[in-house]
Amino acid sequence: MSTWVPVPEGSGFGVNNLPYGVFAQRGELPRVGVAIGEHVLDLAELAASGLLADRRWFAAGTLNAFMAAGPTVWHPTRDRIITLLTDMSYRDEVEPALSPMRDVELHMPFAVSDYVDFYSSREHATNLGRILRPGTEPLLPNWSHLPVGYHGRAGTVVPSGTPIVRPSGQRRGDSGPVFGPTVKLDIEAEVGFVIGQPSALARRVPTSGFRDHVFGFVLVNDWSARDIQAWEYQPLGPFLSKSFATSIAPWVVPVAALDAAHVSPPEQDPRPLPYLRCDEPWGLDLTLEVELNGHVVSRPPFAGMYWTPPQQLAHATANGAALRTGDLMASGTVSGPQREQRGSLIELTWNGNEPLELPDGTRRGFLEDGDTVRITATAPGPEETPIGFGDVIGTVYPSQS
Ligand code: CA
Repeated sequence: MSTWVPVPEGSGFGVNNLPYGVFAQRGELPRVGVAIGEHVLDLAELAASGLLADRRWFAAGTLNAFMAAGPTVWHPTRDRIITLLTDMSYRDEVEPALSPMRDVELHMPFAVSDYVDFYSSREHATNLGRILRPGTEPLLPNWSHLPVGYHGRAGTVVPSGTPIVRPSGQRRGDSGPVFGPTVKLDIEAEVGFVIGQPSALARRVPTSGFRDHVFGFVLVNDWSARDIQAWEYQPLGPFLSKSFATSIAPWVVPVAALDAAHVSPPEQDPRPLPYLRCDEPWGLDLTLEVELNGHVVSRPPFAGMYWTPPQQLAHATANGAALRTGDLMASGTVSGPQREQRGSLIELTWNGNEPLELPDGTRRGFLEDGDTVRITATAPGPEETPIGFGDVIGTVYPSQS
């Protein structure tokens, strides 16, 4: 499949991907588009000129209305966009709807309804257990029976590029707790999925219902204050150590774009309870890349995640909790077995005790003011083309208090 739009060699935004986002031209209202090569295709303009069937969804500042329409709308829309971008006979009509990506402003792609964060990497959970609870069994007994997670703060999920102001909070001091700016500001490289079609209250969504409800995947950086976390997280889990900011990438990769990326997940022992079993191989062969001030410090492999997205979804609705359009469910930090595959600084530097030596001669235990973190990911697509997830970027600014 080839498109008439120029797509640079190795671009993750080929015609097999077509991630959705929200963008604005200077001085204009935001609208829905898809990324193709180094351009954004304006779906609102295509709908207005009759090239897309329905004009209700795209002249909007979020993807939510389109996401809510469900797979019976997503699939024909995607097929139609592919036709418009591959059939030369449409070129003259479609080309005016392309804008160079560097000329537009990318916005938050969807309004986040609820935000759930899991803890699904065995390596990450084991490392954190060793660091935070030394001398005890690193994995708690429930971990291998259910995808552990918590409800986070939807209102502080922010788009890539939003400044990250160093948060203050309460942490352990030498002679009792103290309040002040965190001295252990960290990242968590994660992959989230977003709900499109809602579900009814009191109705479970089985693992086989994933494709009916989930619109796509998005890169997540779940910023974390480790000193605040270590003091507050027992017995009810993380609270203020996580809720100050969670950044997401501007592009939502459709579930259908990842068909060639499926792999068998790690074998699960003990065997999960029936409601968590899944017939399809839902490991996803994404490789993340974490850059600190322009230097790659980690390449976490998403394929090794112990709990898969359909299992997370089935568990999150096991009690009958309804899904809403815009619900964001993140994987938890993606970490692999090797040191250079760890998706957080607390693991990479073992709680700051083994600082990273960066090629520019600087050292880091945790983030310093002025540091910039960028996370990217690619997955294999059809015809050996990469599927890119764009990037999620954030720069640390000094505490305001
Ligand atoms: Ca997290």
